[in-house]
Amino acid sequence: MKKVFAVLGDPIEHSLSPIMHNSAFEALDMDCTYHAFRVGKNDLENALQGAKAMGFGGLNLTVPLKETALSFVDADPLAAKIGAINTIDFKDGIKGYNTDGIGAKRTIEDEGVEIKDKNVLILGAGGAARAIAFTFAEAGARVNIANRTPERAMQLAAEIGDAKGYGLDIVDKGLDEIDILINTTTVGLGHSNGTLVSAEQMHSDLAVFDIVYNPLMTKLLQEAETAGARHITGIMMLVYQGAEAFRIWTGREPPIEIMKRTVMEALDI
Ligand code: NAP
Repeated sequence: MKKVFAVLGDPIEHSLSPIMHNSAFEALDMDCTYHAFRVGKNDLENALQGAKAMGFGGLNLTVPLKETALSFVDADPLAAKIGAINTIDFKDGIKGYNTDGIGAKRTIEDEGVEIKDKNVLILGAGGAARAIAFTFAEAGARVNIANRTPERAMQLAAEIGDAKGYGLDIVDKGLDEIDILINTTTVGLGHSNGTLVSAEQMHSDLAVFDIVYNPLMTKLLQEAETAGARHITGIMMLVYQGAEAFRIWTGREPPIEIMKRTVMEALDI
């Protein structure tokens, strides 16, 4: 019988997870199927119990369920620190993971950029920033966080321990000491064409990673190109966070290139 996987959230119509995971199952000739279900916070506990009772293989969670899920799952230590769950596995109870930070880490490592002992500046202190900040701190990076609401950056830095939080004005003081700049804010999304950092503020040894993947070449990455800095798009983070979930559920090596191609075709890029 087909093994069923799903992403839960609300809204859920535009999720790319079903086509991405179904392409992977098909490529590996696995008898599995992946669907999207609209589930709100109030129904999450029942949905999780139902999925487990029906023998689902695993779940992804998206907005607005990631934080709420912590109350209903056995969270792995990294997900507990991040405070959000995006992947659920049913093999041994209801286990919760967060693969967003791992997705970001793999994306950067793929580009040959080392993380250990590097000075990282994360712009933003929301959900994605939390995942990246804890994952990168664990990987030995020196983590700095700058956010529009400075208190959130300082709070996140305090939770990490060995990290520093600032307002966005820290960028004006210069990025000479920074090796990796990561945008996790929504600035640059869609047709806004905004950027929090300009080419003049960058240096050519900087690696600039924008997790916003629509458009692929955000204004921030265009500025990085102008500055002669390395620029890394957000598309592979999307693929790798899904690939890591796939690995957790199935124990199989995910077909990364096929997943990437499927997502890029769906985004028409
Ligand atoms: P979130 O929790 O809502 O956080 C949003 C962040 O953006 C906050 O730090 C917020 O600052 C900041 N922000 C919003 N508008 C701003 C503005 N005008 N100027 C400066 N800062 C602003 O969102 P999230 O879940 O972390 O997601 C953030 C972005 O990452 C989204 O575009 C999402 O699509 C993308 N993302 C990509 C991937 C991927 O796989 N590539 C994965 C996850 C997320 P305040 O704290 O001051 O409000």
